[in-house]
Amino acid sequence: MSETGRLFVVAGPSGAGKDTLISKVMKAGGVHLSVSATTRKAREGEEDGRDYRFLTDEEFDRLVEQGAFLEWKEVYGNRYGTLREEVDEAIASGKDVILEIDVKGALDVKAKAPEARLIFVMPPTMDELETRLRGRKADTEEEIEVRMETAPWEIEKGRNEFDHLIVNDDVERAARELARVMGR
Ligand code: ADP
Ligand code: 5GP
Repeated sequence: MSETGRLFVVAGPSGAGKDTLISKVMKAGGVHLSVSATTRKAREGEEDGRDYRFLTDEEFDRLVEQGAFLEWKEVYGNRYGTLREEVDEAIASGKDVILEIDVKGALDVKAKAPEARLIFVMPPTMDELETRLRGRKADTEEEIEVRMETAPWEIEKGRNEFDHLIVNDDVERAARELARVMGR
């Protein structure tokens, strides 16, 4: 392990399979997945401090004022932010860090920390993306529509501005590719 860890940002359309691939790579250990703060309400099964730090609007405002965020964005109507201190501490302790954030946030991180590697998770086709969003059963019809409408813009950014592009066709193959990109 190198003295300090490296920063990896994983982004891509909602439903492309980011969570699925990251959780496979996390199993090998030695990687820290940053826990973002959000103003969105917790979904069933989500735990404060594990999935997100669930904050009120006022709490989130205060952290913005304090400069606590490496980046923050409004995504699908809620605010989400990466806590600078958490990332810095993990990197200083020698762990590689993954940020799973939206595409705009990823580009912000790259502007502030050019050494960060941006990894884009791409669905094999748009039809398959829709099938996965529906299969996940986490989103309403309206939410699925917004996610599908946002995807082409995200894919264009992924193609042109990210360091690595991984097509999540077969889970095991794509997870191996993610591990390889991360030097594991
Ligand atoms: P994201 O984190 O990008 O929003 P998820 O990891 O939640 O996406 O995946 C969305 C859905 O697609 C989940 O139900 C997941 O099980 C499924 N999925 C992920 N990768 C694949 C794949 N390679 N083939 C088929 N289904 C997949
Ligand atoms: P969800 O509410 O489904 O967990 O996440 C919605 C979107 O917010 C996803 O695209 C996710 O990657 C993004 N997101 C989660 N945390 C952050 C963050 O800290 N910053 C930014 N910019 N986006 C985030």
